[in-house]
Amino acid sequence: MAIRIDGKETSRKVRGEIAKKVQELKEQGKVTGLAVVIVGENPASQVYVRNKAKACEEVGMYSEVHALPESTTEEELLALVERLNHEDKIDGILVQLPLPKHINEERVILAIDPNKDVDAFHPVNTGKIMIGNYEFLPCTPAGVMTLLKEYNIEVEGKECVVVGRSNIVGKPQALLLLQKNGTVTVCHSRTKNLAEITRRADILVVAIGKAEFITGDMIKEGAVVIDVGMNRKSDGKLCGDVEFASASEKASYITPVPGGVGPMTITTLLQNTLVASEKRMTK
Ligand code: NDP
Repeated sequence: MAIRIDGKETSRKVRGEIAKKVQELKEQGKVTGLAVVIVGENPASQVYVRNKAKACEEVGMYSEVHALPESTTEEELLALVERLNHEDKIDGILVQLPLPKHINEERVILAIDPNKDVDAFHPVNTGKIMIGNYEFLPCTPAGVMTLLKEYNIEVEGKECVVVGRSNIVGKPQALLLLQKNGTVTVCHSRTKNLAEITRRADILVVAIGKAEFITGDMIKEGAVVIDVGMNRKSDGKLCGDVEFASASEKASYITPVPGGVGPMTITTLLQNTLVASEKRMTK
């Protein structure tokens, strides 16, 4: 039976360390600040934004939420981002995605000062991640790496399979595993014989957004299984992309959903905001 990787506990520990550093900065006169911008009424986004603001408070950071109506124009949003770029008390800016259809997300991401881009979505920061020389961590994949480290799971020389190739999870996840000297395969919706590939994995990271898609028979005995997926079942309960019960029979370690990768994403966001604050402090 697999050992459950506890994202809540790991998060608590890392956030405790962040809180200490935030306090030290405060004692030197520097308050760390995050601005979160949300446009429209997407209920899931509203929950994420509330959780982010709450997490900031818990570690002693200043946070402000800019909740704009659905009717906000791209120009109005860009003007707000520009103002926040120059706002002294703001170290990090996060624009919650997705944005309403009439706003071009790429243009908005490009408008964020790369030094305040704590989601690490700006091409300057994704490029830095690509070459392995970066300040801002890609939030969810870096959260996965923190969990692996916390549980002393060695990546070097391991066969790592990432299922999913999105810009925010799959691709940066593959890069981070590669940087740790894993042998990485990336799978996606056109991959043939997926189960044959997933069964090779010593470390399997799944981020596809399909409820309980990966089953125990697709997992090698003793594999480490990291489930990034967050799906809602018809009964309203949250579940991952991995069928937890059958996968637990095969895996050595496994992340539950909820309580696995989820809490780590916001923890990385806090780490990035702290880095941004320290960087501005030393300017
Ligand atoms: P996207 O929809 O952007 O990407 C999904 C990826 O999965 C694509 O690359 C797609 O392939 C691939 N895929 C889809 N179906 C299959 C299949 N049948 N076989 C193999 N690959 C497949 O999703 P995200 O990366 O944004 O998110 C993935 C999941 O992770 C979601 O459940 C999301 O809610 C969750 N998530 C959780 C976070 C957390 O904090 N825990 C943070 C971010 C996301 P192709 O490219 O070919 O279309």
